[in-house]
Amino acid sequence: MSKICLCLTAKTISRNLELIEKYRKYIDMAELRVDCLDPDENFLIRHFPKQAGIPVILTIRRKQDGGNYLSGEGSRVALLSRGLAFAESDKRYNFAYVDLEEDLDVPGLEEAVRTFGTRIIRSYHNFDGVGKITEKIKSLRKIGDEIAKVALMPQNLNDVLAMYQAGRETAGMEKIIIGMGPYGLNTRILSEKLGSFLCYTSETEDPTVPPGAPGLISPKDLVEKYRFRDINSATDIYGVVGFPLATTYSPRIYNTVFSREKINAVYIPFPAHNLNYFLKLAEDINIKGAAVTIPYKEEIIIHLNTVTESVKIAGACNTVKALGVLARSLPGETGSVVWSGTNTDTLGFTESLLNFLGRKNLRGQKITVIGAGGAARAIVSEIHRLKGKCLILNRTAVRARELALNYDYTWGGLDSQALDRMERYSDIIIQATPVGLYPNTNEDPFELYHFNGHEAVMDLIYNPLQTAFLKRAMATGCHVLNGMDMLLRQAKYQYEYLLERDFPEQLIPALLDSLQK
Ligand code: NAP
Repeated sequence: MSKICLCLTAKTISRNLELIEKYRKYIDMAELRVDCLDPDENFLIRHFPKQAGIPVILTIRRKQDGGNYLSGEGSRVALLSRGLAFAESDKRYNFAYVDLEEDLDVPGLEEAVRTFGTRIIRSYHNFDGVGKITEKIKSLRKIGDEIAKVALMPQNLNDVLAMYQAGRETAGMEKIIIGMGPYGLNTRILSEKLGSFLCYTSETEDPTVPPGAPGLISPKDLVEKYRFRDINSATDIYGVVGFPLATTYSPRIYNTVFSREKINAVYIPFPAHNLNYFLKLAEDINIKGAAVTIPYKEEIIIHLNTVTESVKIAGACNTVKALGVLARSLPGETGSVVWSGTNTDTLGFTESLLNFLGRKNLRGQKITVIGAGGAARAIVSEIHRLKGKCLILNRTAVRARELALNYDYTWGGLDSQALDRMERYSDIIIQATPVGLYPNTNEDPFELYHFNGHEAVMDLIYNPLQTAFLKRAMATGCHVLNGMDMLLRQAKYQYEYLLERDFPEQLIPALLDSLQK
């Protein structure tokens, strides 16, 4: 079972001990990063394992490997020796592991360490890419009882795929494989599937404690948000693909439901700069299904073997499911996943809007939709089905035109010429662009428009709950709705499509409460 290791990067021993207490129930071991300590604290490192009460890795990371240690190798070796000296007969009082880089050659220290039962983690760091991972893992160890560690910076999901392949090619070897940065998050969560001995975590709430490496998450998030302790070789993988995927609430929704319903599955964000790379990775690690978000809701469609009516009508897809694998005739080649797709934004939007308005349809309603992307396509198709009349405004006017022509609706750019027309389409205004989304919370998609206080205004954004656009509408007395309700409603339909089972509706109030916090 992959272990959870808390990387300790505070300036003092006492603060590091506090962090162990804070996360004790989530962690199996800790790494004392001596390179992050104030120099005076170096005198105190020898007794740290006894104080910590869990197995501890001793690490003094050099600047070139992503640490803070700037002095020469001689003094670093002397400091390592200080931490490992005067070994006690009770092994729990000694460092359980020491991290030594592949190029550090100190046979005397290594021999002494082995004599007293401290294990060597032989590490390699690459901040520019992944390189030849399998070869590196196989060649790192100087002696068979060492644990090979590769900390790599994948530049895309193709690099991540190579990491999983290397994990399989080195099956049975004790090793640590870490993907740093945003693309590597899934390798941390799926550490068990990767065959990694441990997964590093870090304090993330205290800004005075620096992150140990790019992309580390807290032990609490790893366990509570991403179900780390429940993941095993049989765990089904689901996720969300998009870019940059800075904020997504769906892992919290799904993983909470998986946990409560005792489903052996995990839901992971996959930021993907290239959709093809995601699909290749999905095939390799057997992703069962995924939510699709900005900017891939339209691009995904050409990769799908079957689509539901909602995708055909909206011209956008927000959910894909792996139906199985097509066997290919050539021996040795992997199969190719058969994907089906649906769009649950449509039903989620309709339920949310009609509930908000207290209506059964949109007959007689004149509606402005701002945006012409994937979400706008889905909601315009629903407005049409519900008999509403619509004006579509978009930054790129030609995209608004393209969408509007499908329904014989009117269209325009986000400019002063649109204002007159918008006055005639102002029963309901729907904001369907990412403008105002966290972290750019001060942005407003159409500042030129002044609310008159009678419009019903819906913003699809749910983070923040009140966008600058909604705040402006509220200030004039408009009735407003954010995207949270729609998010949960579409997630319910998405879950039912992907898992082929009912969504536990009784969990909705608690989910809503936790997401709003
Ligand atoms: P998308 O396919 O990437 O479309 C983005 C749209 O926003 C395009 O029309 C684009 O205009 C416009 N846009 C982007 N940046 C802009 C800017 N700086 N100024 C003006 N317009 C800009 O994205 P999407 O999937 O439709 O998602 C849109 C929003 O809806 C996102 O915030 C998403 O989180 C939210 N959403 C919420 C839910 C929910 O359940 N609550 C569901 C789906 C989507 P151009 O054509 O000119 O590029």
